[in-house]
Amino acid sequence: KSAPAALGAAKDDTGVPGRVRVAVRLRPRNAEERVADADFPDCVELQPEVKRLKLRKNNWDSDTYEFDELLTEFASQKRVYEVVAKPVVESVLDGYNGTVMAYGQTGTGKTYTLGQLGEEDTAARGIMVRAMEDILADVSLETNSVSMSYLQLYMETIQDLLNPTNDNISIVEDPKSGDVSLPGATLVEIRNQQSFVDLLRLGEAHRFAANTKLNAESSRSHAILMVHVKKSVRGRDSVLSSENVDNSPMVKSLKPPIVRKGKLVIVDLAGSERIDKSGSEGHTLEEAKSINLSLSALGKCINALAENSAHVPVRDSKLTRLLRDSFGGTARTSLVITIGPSPRHRGETASTIMFGQRAMKVENMLKLKEE
Ligand code: ADP
Repeated sequence: KSAPAALGAAKDDTGVPGRVRVAVRLRPRNAEERVADADFPDCVELQPEVKRLKLRKNNWDSDTYEFDELLTEFASQKRVYEVVAKPVVESVLDGYNGTVMAYGQTGTGKTYTLGQLGEEDTAARGIMVRAMEDILADVSLETNSVSMSYLQLYMETIQDLLNPTNDNISIVEDPKSGDVSLPGATLVEIRNQQSFVDLLRLGEAHRFAANTKLNAESSRSHAILMVHVKKSVRGRDSVLSSENVDNSPMVKSLKPPIVRKGKLVIVDLAGSERIDKSGSEGHTLEEAKSINLSLSALGKCINALAENSAHVPVRDSKLTRLLRDSFGGTARTSLVITIGPSPRHRGETASTIMFGQRAMKVENMLKLKEE
């Protein structure tokens, strides 16, 4: 089976095929749901041993879906990290691009899964913090570099969460490699784990302040963390030195080091529930359209890729332009879809599940980024 065309980039089959992996995480019932819905069973049942999810249709029937991983309400943050993010982090350390993304209705645990700092309760640390721990355990900062940018995408505007006065960020795409960069975004070198956690906290504070000013809820915007890892590794044996003329230690020591440049992108998406266009949630029609735009554009791109369609509408939104390498591109991508158990939200849960099912059909071509 050949890979579909990368989002907007030239088709190229020279990488390692890597399908988007999709895990489902069910959050436990909250206090309100335990009381108010006490008489009603959960709308989903997870069967992790057989990697199946059952979505209840009525008292007798349910639909069954298969996923790569199922994380029940008892799954620890550590286990979620190991299943969802660790393979992606390892790829980034090997010099690939990687994406970890959470999709689901507001209140189902996207931020808990990705962004929990866990400073008091270390068992609660989320994917961002654990990823950096693994990166810093592998990369020596004396000879290499790890840096980050932290952004919010709200109503088609990219805001710099590390410097709120910086509002001039545009997306630059390399049409050949499919790589996306944000040259205007603040890039900060990470010195140690604590400096990273401090930057995440600073970013959250800026996000809160920006949203308060705009009278916006953070559930309506996307938070995007980008971590750049530059790591030099010993040069590979060239044909000349290993097989041909001279295999002396002198020649070996002259081998130039290779710099591997992995990029890890962690995306906490806006809540997947659609905003009512009538404005009943206090949004104007323009706002509602703009807020719905990026997520529905992402859904359309994923559908097009899943169906191997010739046209992938990547240019329709900033979110899809930013993620063009993550779906149908050269990155290793892991998606966690978060759902709640409440029968009241069965409709939203069903649409989240369908999004995850389509994302599982997207093939990427992983490519080493080195120079
Ligand atoms: P979202 O980012 O999807 O809007 P949050 O991450 O803010 O959702 O989660 C909503 C609430 O549910 C928070 O209070 C969070 O602590 C709690 N929560 C989410 N997932 C879990 C979980 N797996 N275990 C315990 N509490 C959770």
